Amino acid sequence: VDESPAGECIFCKLVNGDIPSAKVYEDELTIAFMDIGQACEGHVLVASKRHAANLLELTPEEAGAAMQTARRIAAAAAQALEPEGITLFQANGAAGGQTVFHFHLHVLPRKAGDGLSLTWKRE
Ligand code: 5GP
Ligand code: ZN
Repeated sequence: VDESPAGECIFCKLVNGDIPSAKVYEDELTIAFMDIGQACEGHVLVASKRHAANLLELTPEEAGAAMQTARRIAAAAAQALEPEGITLFQANGAAGGQTVFHFHLHVLPRKAGDGLSLTWKRE
């Protein structure tokens, strides 16, 4: 379900340059930019350039490109920040934890004891 039409989508505005972002990478199909929330140092989002509500609305090419871009960002983070680990996280639908309904994937450089939780794990 597309819970935000493309015309009022915050990430479409960001892709179009209608709202500012700290862009770190861009290619034909994807864009990567700093998450405004910075859950941890170096928290980057990889989004499709085309409006797609979630993973299921991506073409195979877009899905492949998103993972290639995530790998590129992870490699850059490994160089620049020397994290102890890196988490990729991607939510689909409100019940899946998604809050912005334009496909994106989180790249989270991690340190032991950084206090972040993986919300799908049972107590
Ligand atoms: P979700 O909860 O859908 O997986 O992730 C949405 C993410 O988008 C959140 O981590 C939030 O901080 C980020 N975000 C929301 N609005 C903006 C914005 O205008 N600019 C940027 N750079 N990130 C945003
Ligand atoms: Zn959009």
